[in-house]
Amino acid sequence: MKGKLRPVGSPVPFPRIRERQELPWAAPYHTEFMGSGTEALSLAVAIAIRRHSQVSTPEVIIPAYGCPDLVSAIVAQGARPVLVDLLPDCAYMSDTWIREAITASTVAVVGVGFLGIPERLEELSGICREHNLFLIEDSAQCFPPASAFKPHADLVVLSFGRGKPINLMGGGALLVRTDLAGQAEESVAQHPVSVLKVGMAWLIKRFVFNLLMRRLPYYVLERLPFLGIGETKFHRLVTISRLDLPESVLQAGLRDFQLRPLIHQRYDTELAGLEARGWKCLTSDRSEMSRNDLQQPVPLLRYPVLAPSKDMRDRAIAALNSAGIGASAFYERTLPQIDGVEAEVEGRDYPVASDFASRLLTLPTHENVTSADVTLIGRILLSLKEF
Ligand SMILES: *Cc1c(COP(=O)(O)O)cnc(C)c1O
Repeated sequence: MKGKLRPVGSPVPFPRIRERQELPWAAPYHTEFMGSGTEALSLAVAIAIRRHSQVSTPEVIIPAYGCPDLVSAIVAQGARPVLVDLLPDCAYMSDTWIREAITASTVAVVGVGFLGIPERLEELSGICREHNLFLIEDSAQCFPPASAFKPHADLVVLSFGRGKPINLMGGGALLVRTDLAGQAEESVAQHPVSVLKVGMAWLIKRFVFNLLMRRLPYYVLERLPFLGIGETKFHRLVTISRLDLPESVLQAGLRDFQLRPLIHQRYDTELAGLEARGWKCLTSDRSEMSRNDLQQPVPLLRYPVLAPSKDMRDRAIAALNSAGIGASAFYERTLPQIDGVEAEVEGRDYPVASDFASRLLTLPTHENVTSADVTLIGRILLSLKEF
């Protein structure tokens, strides 16, 4: 038995600094470490709300397909999440629907990077400037954030949770553009600071965590239903705290990220034949990324592909998983279709986002994916018959 290749997630780095590097966004942004990415996003929303103190129920624009934590972060500030539909066959929000959604109560737009592909921040910041709104880049899934190279976003959110580009078993960061640090100060200072201690308990947790990522333990864990591994759930955000994060931990995370192989380039080659059969590799939009001035290719969090139909997607997931490959439908639904979220949002009908959710398939790209895995994945996907 070979076990199962996990769908996502890199090992927690060992905190030993060989060389100290400057954070890539150090010039344009001030960094505030936070308890999680959700807490960082919620604080970003609080900062945006403070600028519009005359608005009684502030509104924040987010994509209709995405992480339910977006909704938790917004409602925790007493604001209303306003969802907008996507552009066809990608995870970008539609500009037309964003403009349609803006009201006198809107305070911010959240541009959410998807699995390593940043949103079109230049376009979004243009819309935000016209309407005096903050642009928040949610870069929980993308590292480094696109704003590190072109500081289009006013505020940037990072996550160091499991299954994120840098896994520190939790934590996050809010980057505040330096010209706004003064006005953000009061909102930031309200929150207590907790200290992350890299002691024996942390090191043991790291050791166990990394062990469980391997193929055999992962195969067993996934079969324990009470763990609910890979499920998308809505959690209410209750407390927001800042984090005193030891520099050695973050530096180790940066180093490991830079050493991670670029396995998505193998997928680009191996899966090229799928496009003629009606599939779409979302990485073919990465010309967008070079527009964001990412000089060098960076690892993707997962490799996203759109199947020609939901039926084909579902059969692909079944076939890959029975071959020991953790292929996933990711969120599987639009935000209003996720349990607990529907009560927090108004709109229901987002046809483009629904179609995207029904055909998306994500493939693993972490450091334990081998060339043989990618070849196997290519063979399985290319052998699926159209009915
Ligand atoms: C995971 C995630 C978050 C939340 O980050 P946590 O550190 O898990 O709280 C926010 N936004 C997006 C897009 C995410 O993927």
